[in-house]
Amino acid sequence: MNANRRTNIVILGGGFGGVYTAMELEKLLKGDNTVEITLVNRENYLFFQPLLPEMISGRTGILDPIIAIRRLCPRTNLLTREVEAIDLDNKVITTSPGFWPQPRRIEYDYLVLALGTVMNFAGMPGLQEHGLPLKTMGDALFLRNRILHLLEEANIEEDLDRRQTLLTFVVAGGGFSGVSATGEINGYVRQAAKSYRRINPNEVRVVLLHTGSHILPALSEDLGNLGQQILERYKVEVRLNTRLAGATGDYALLDGGERIPTKTLISTAPADPHPLLTALPCLKEKGRIVTNEFLELPEFPGVWSVGDCACIINQKSGQPCPPTALHAMAQGRCAAANLVAAFRGTPKRPFAFTVRAKMGGLGRRKGVAEILGIKFSGYLAWLLQGFFYLMRLPTLDRQLRVMAEFFLNMILPLDIVQLKIARSASISQEHFGPGEVIFKQGDHGDRVYIIMKGEVEIVGEQPGKGEVIFRTQGPGECFGELALISNAPRTATVRTLTSVNLLSMERGAFMAFVDHLPPVRKIFDQMAQERLERTKELLGAPDQEVR
Ligand SMILES: Cc1cc2nc3c(=O)[nH]c(=O)nc-3n(C[C@H](O)[C@H](O)[C@H](O)COP(=O)(O)OP(=O)(O)OC[C@H]3O[C@@H](n4cnc5c(N)ncnc54)[C@H](O)[C@@H]3O)c2cc1C
Repeated sequence: MNANRRTNIVILGGGFGGVYTAMELEKLLKGDNTVEITLVNRENYLFFQPLLPEMISGRTGILDPIIAIRRLCPRTNLLTREVEAIDLDNKVITTSPGFWPQPRRIEYDYLVLALGTVMNFAGMPGLQEHGLPLKTMGDALFLRNRILHLLEEANIEEDLDRRQTLLTFVVAGGGFSGVSATGEINGYVRQAAKSYRRINPNEVRVVLLHTGSHILPALSEDLGNLGQQILERYKVEVRLNTRLAGATGDYALLDGGERIPTKTLISTAPADPHPLLTALPCLKEKGRIVTNEFLELPEFPGVWSVGDCACIINQKSGQPCPPTALHAMAQGRCAAANLVAAFRGTPKRPFAFTVRAKMGGLGRRKGVAEILGIKFSGYLAWLLQGFFYLMRLPTLDRQLRVMAEFFLNMILPLDIVQLKIARSASISQEHFGPGEVIFKQGDHGDRVYIIMKGEVEIVGEQPGKGEVIFRTQGPGECFGELALISNAPRTATVRTLTSVNLLSMERGAFMAFVDHLPPVRKIFDQMAQERLERTKELLGAPDQEVR
C-alpha cells in the first residue's frame, strides 16, 4: 500500500445508524488527516422518522424532521447516490450513475453497512398496488394529500356506500409507528371533516389491525391495553389477532375473508431486509446481518453493520436489539469507536445498551410511556414524548422550529390545504441539439428511447480502426433497448444528426412493460438479437461502413 494513501472508511446509509457512526468518527479522528470518511446515501439529509406520523396531520412542518447531513458531519465526504453493488471480497462499492450514465466505484479499507430495511408488499395480493407504505417523507406527504383528496370526494359523493368507503381508513400494524400513525390520522381526519359542509365527522371510520393480542408489543401488556382504551375513546376500531391478507382498490381483505371497504390502506407491518444485503456472502438472521459483540462481521474483519439492517445482540440484556432509532444511534457510536480501535490496535468494546425510556404517541395529544420502569399515559405521556424527541433531534435550529410548531399547533387550527406534488415520471420527454451524444458505448443502460422528431446515428468503436456507423434512425424508431434486455453495458454510441425530440422510459418501467406483455417482449428480444448480430458482423468487417 502507498504510504501516503489515506485510509478510506466508507459508510453506506445515512439514517440514524450511518450518520451517528460518521459523527462519532469525526469526533474521534479530529485532527487526523490520514483518514478519509465517505458516506453514501440516497438523500442528502437525515430523516427523523419518529416525527413522520405528525407530518401527516401537519403538526410538524414539512422540513422540520429533516436535517442536512453536511451540517451534521462537515468533515465527511457525502455522496448522494444510490448504492448499486457491494463487493466484500474486492472491497469495492458501486453507486448508480448521476446525470451522466457512468456508475462510480469506491474502494474502501473499512466499511460500515447501515442501509436500514425496505418496505416490501410482495407476497400479499394487491398490497403492492394498493397498500400505502409509511417510511419516507414522500410517503407522509402522499398520505396527507390522499386523506384531503378523499375528504373532498366524500363531500361531493351522493352514494352512501361509496361515501363510507372514502371515509374509512385502515392501518395494518400495531407497533409504535402503526399506532401513532392511526392516532394522528384519526385526530386529523375527524377534525378536518368539520370544515366540510357535507361530511358528518361521525361518518369517519378508522380501523387498526394488529396480529398480536395487545398493541404496542414493545411495551408491557397493561400499557398496550391502556393505549387501546385511549384510541377507542376517540372512536378508533382496534382489531386484535387480525391479519391483513390482501387488498384491492376498493377494500382491505382480512384473513378469514372479511372485507373492509376502503380507499386507504396503510401498512406499517414489519419491514423486509435490504435486498443489497441479502445478496452478501455473510451470516444472516431473517435477512439481517449477524455481527459479533463489537458490531463487526465475523467473516469479514474491517466490515461493521449497525441499525435496522443488523442483527446485534445487546450484551446488557442478551437479547437481539429491536429496530429503533435509539438503538441505531448507540450502535453507530459503538461501531465508530471499535473501527478506530481496529486501526489503532487498541481494545474494542462490546455493545451494551440500557433502554431507559419507551414511549408511543396515540394522536390527539395523548400517549403512553415507560421511563425508568415508571408508567405514564394520556397528556403527560404525550408531553414527555414530545420533550424526549425534541432533545434527541439533532441541531438547535431544528429543535427551535419543532418547538415553535408544537406551541403554535396548541392554539391554531390544523391546516387542510392539499399540496399537489407530482410523483417522479418514469416516462419523460427529452430534447437534444444536433451533434450531441445521448449515450456512449460502455455506459450503464438506464433508459430506452423512442424518436419523436429528428434523426440519430448509432456508431460503434472498432479496436484499432475507429468508428463504424451501424445505422441511422428517425421518427417512430427506438434505440437503447439492447443494454436493458441483456443487462449489459451499451454496445454503441448514439449521436444526434439533427435536433431531436425523444420519449424516454426508465429501466424499471420498460422492463415491467415488456415483461408483462409477452408479444411485446418477443418483438424487443428479436430486435435486440438482430441488432446484436449486425453489430458483430459490422465490427468483424473492418472496411465496411454502413448508413
Ligand atoms: C413511521 C416510523 C416511526 C418510527 N418511530 C420511532 C420511534 O418513535 N422511536 C424509535 O426509536 N424508532 C422509531 N422508528 C424506527 C426508526 O426510525 C428506525 O429504527 C431507524 O430509522 C433505523 O435507522 P437505520 O439507520 O438503521 O435505517 P434508516 O433510518 O432506514 O436509514 C437507512 C438509510 O439508508 C439509505 N439507503 C437505503 N438503501 C440505499 C441505497 N441502495 N443507496 C443509498 N442509500 C440507501 C436510506 O435512504 C436511509 O437514509 C420509526 C420508524 C418509522 C418508519
